[in-house]
Amino acid sequence: MLKWKATNNILDVVSTVGVPVFAGIFFVGWIVSLFYHPVINFPLIAIPIIVLYYFSSNIYSGILTGVTVVTGIVDAIFFIQKSEVSLILLECVAIVCLYLILEMYKNKYVSTKNRFFEEHDTLKWEITLKESAILENTKRIDNLHQRIKNLKKMGEIIQSFRGSLNEEELIHKSENIADEFMGKGFWKLKKYKNDDVFALYIKNTSLSLMITNIADDTRFPSEKNNDKSSVIAVPIEFNKTFWGILQGTSYIRNFFSEEDLRQLSLLAGIISTALNNFYLYEQLETLSITDGLTGLYTNIYFKERLKEELNRSQINKLPLSLCILDIDFFKDINDIYGHQMGDSVLRQISSILRLKLRETDFIARYGGEEFAIIMLYTNSSEAIKILEKIRLTIERESFFLPLGDLSSSQIKITASIGFVSLNKKNYISEEKFIQNADEALYKAKQLGRNRVEEYCYE
Ligand code: GH3
Ligand code: MG
Ligand code: MG
Repeated sequence: MLKWKATNNILDVVSTVGVPVFAGIFFVGWIVSLFYHPVINFPLIAIPIIVLYYFSSNIYSGILTGVTVVTGIVDAIFFIQKSEVSLILLECVAIVCLYLILEMYKNKYVSTKNRFFEEHDTLKWEITLKESAILENTKRIDNLHQRIKNLKKMGEIIQSFRGSLNEEELIHKSENIADEFMGKGFWKLKKYKNDDVFALYIKNTSLSLMITNIADDTRFPSEKNNDKSSVIAVPIEFNKTFWGILQGTSYIRNFFSEEDLRQLSLLAGIISTALNNFYLYEQLETLSITDGLTGLYTNIYFKERLKEELNRSQINKLPLSLCILDIDFFKDINDIYGHQMGDSVLRQISSILRLKLRETDFIARYGGEEFAIIMLYTNSSEAIKILEKIRLTIERESFFLPLGDLSSSQIKITASIGFVSLNKKNYISEEKFIQNADEALYKAKQLGRNRVEEYCYE
């Protein structure tokens, strides 16, 4: 292609500039030389003119033909004057031969030029095709980059759902994630309520929803005067049934695109899975009696047992104490040494409780770092002795870190304990009994922590 271009350029220059210049020079030279040697003059002049003709374009070819003919005629007149007939004939034959050669080369030149142009057009077309293929591939690569980015983000989203403690937190987290992932709009994860027209519509149709301008949308007349203009929403399912919707809104019309809807459906899938996991975990916890981390009884089971034991003790007028133990500044342990260390401390405290308490005592993990103990047949003075022993044991214990070298990884921990013992006078519900123990714990915290406090009846 490059070779052709160069050739074509030379031809162009020769035909547009070179031809008229050379023609002029030779014509003047010929007129001058006629006076000196007319017989050999014609072929000498005709040959360069033919060469020029060969390279020339249509405009110059006419001029050059004219020049050649004039050359021949003037030459002929000179010869006729000298009456050399054989030379005149020779000149005429030379002119015809030159003309034939000229035509032959001219045709060859034209066909070569045409071929060049055809090749040029084909190449141009191929270039256009290649350019559009490159453009297409660039778009595809951009698209892939975007998808990789989205997948990475999805991975981060899935990670960030780990450790969600309650439904409210999970919903809040999902809204933040939608906000970050979509990068525009105002996001809400809404549990289904029948007064929510958008949720109702999605529930009934099982379709995603996209409203470009709510004022023009006949499906939701009640929302006509809504301050938002664009709405996008997808269903969220729990256990294969409709749970609610993930909804994005904006005050701007035509704010969301089809691509946004596609992205949102992906996100909805992840949120549905996170919700399912969360509810299943909650159900499992409800069903299970023992806590996975400490092996102690769970809060739910503890409440059942407390209800029974409280009833039995009150009916039979038996002493009973309930204690709640809370680790002091436990948050700092997590913050300084990490969650893993926090978990290890919880396990070590559980072991101390198991070791120090009696067979008849019922120990449960009441909450995060709180433990509840039901002490059967135990009155206030006995309870205080046992709990004080436990407090002291915890205070004296060196808690070790599961990681790092031993010397630097032993830490000191204290716990605050609140308890309540049955008062024979009035019947008390288990809720109230727990509340009383909690109050005593609060008092222990207020009075400086690392102490045992008893709830005092009025
Ligand atoms: P204080 O009770 O003395 O007022 O202070 P605290 O730092 O213990 O206060 P708070 O009750 O607010 O903190 C409890 C912390 O316990 C917060 C939470 O991150 C942590 N926690 C709850 N459950 C777990 C768990 O299962 N493992 C770990 N490692 N930490 C937990
Ligand atoms: Mg606490
Ligand atoms: Mg605490």
